[in-house]
Amino acid sequence: MSDTVERTFIAIKPDGVQRGLVAKIIAVFEQRGYKLVAIKMVCPSREHLEVHYDDLRGKPFFQGLIEFMKSGPIVAMVWEGLDVVRQGRKLLGATNPLESEPGTIRGNFAIDTGRNVCHGSDSVKSAKREIAHWFNNDELCDYNLELKKSIY
Ligand code: ADP
Ligand code: MG
Repeated sequence: MSDTVERTFIAIKPDGVQRGLVAKIIAVFEQRGYKLVAIKMVCPSREHLEVHYDDLRGKPFFQGLIEFMKSGPIVAMVWEGLDVVRQGRKLLGATNPLESEPGTIRGNFAIDTGRNVCHGSDSVKSAKREIAHWFNNDELCDYNLELKKSIY
């Protein structure tokens, strides 16, 4: 467990957007107490997705995964807070939704590994790479600072 503030990259995949699960997935992270520091809807290129999933090149499902990720808009987000990388993975549930605990996002909303609704970074190192891949620095908000500015 990490007792430091981290950031993680969470994405709602095309199936999650098409099925109207955006608000429900955001609510899980908000209600746990994490802070949304970036969010946008995107239709990324094949090249962008292949770099995102670089570690899976060569897997038999790789091309199908990229096709699926290109099948509709994705909601890309950065969430911040204590231990958020590991806790975020727990909130998502196991990769194969049939292995996901009920109460997790995948355990509540999915039954198919290839349609598992959401993505979450698997380590602090991956999170840093993925956040830099999906967002420019000026898209990441520091609203503690904004709050201070409005007070003084
Ligand atoms: P996770 O998304 O939980 O980090 P991986 O990084 O291993 O899982 O895989 C990325 C995505 O590729 C998964 O979320 C899933 O959509 C898809 N995937 C993984 N394994 C398989 C598989 N055996 N068959 C089909 N799709 C898969
Ligand atoms: Mg992964």
